[in-house]
Amino acid sequence: MRPQDFGPGALPSVPLFFLLTLNKTPLAKALWVELSDNMDKPLCVAFDCDGVLADSISSWRTIHNHFGTDSKDLLQRFMQGELTDSEFMAADIALWKEVSPKIHRDDLFRAYSGCKLMKGAKEVVRDLKEAGVHVAIVSAGVDLYVQSIAAMVKADDWIANGFNFDEEGWLMDEGVVRVPSMEKYTSINKLLNILDIPPERLVCVGDSSMDLSMHVEGSTFIGFNPQRDAAKEAFAKAGIPVVNSKDLNDIRPYLGI
Ligand SMILES: [Mg+2]
Repeated sequence: MRPQDFGPGALPSVPLFFLLTLNKTPLAKALWVELSDNMDKPLCVAFDCDGVLADSISSWRTIHNHFGTDSKDLLQRFMQGELTDSEFMAADIALWKEVSPKIHRDDLFRAYSGCKLMKGAKEVVRDLKEAGVHVAIVSAGVDLYVQSIAAMVKADDWIANGFNFDEEGWLMDEGVVRVPSMEKYTSINKLLNILDIPPERLVCVGDSSMDLSMHVEGSTFIGFNPQRDAAKEAFAKAGIPVVNSKDLNDIRPYLGI
């Protein structure tokens, strides 16, 4: 991750603030309104990937579909706290290897060939960046996939979970946990530290109940396109705004663009 190049979203300088406070001319008042408006706009927007920037339920499920395997039981055990992220990932990999004992990196890339961006994803990210907003992807999904989504939308930063391969590109038995799926705040707090911005200037966008773990105190969270009942219930309970749509353009009013 690299620090944001602060653009038009940055705070006005203190002397300008002072002058505007003293100056009562119509122009100064108009400028003041614009600057105060600007102050509430986010400096960083962190998107979940699967189901938000990418029009797919889960980048893990995509690989299961590819191999004809199913992780429903594992997911249930994970949700009940019986498995850790890394145990869940190793169990997923073991299921695939039962079908195909040697799996090459290229096989996994191929599994994602039919995946698409969410409608509006490119345009929303482009307009955020033009407004000086740092755009990050914080995903508990698969790095191979999240990296390609990040490249397509031209996000500034991304972080995701993933795989280990040997030197010839064969999949190893253990995954790599970078974003614990129920503790996504660990990545969010790192991002806030690196960018040196307060949580009040951060907006997170997610589609699942686990994404609510991005919602650090003081920040804004927008629920987008929740599919599972658990997500709908969790969003309602959290009292956050929810955009029920398959078009990311519909979150623009919350982002100031
Ligand atoms: Mg998601």
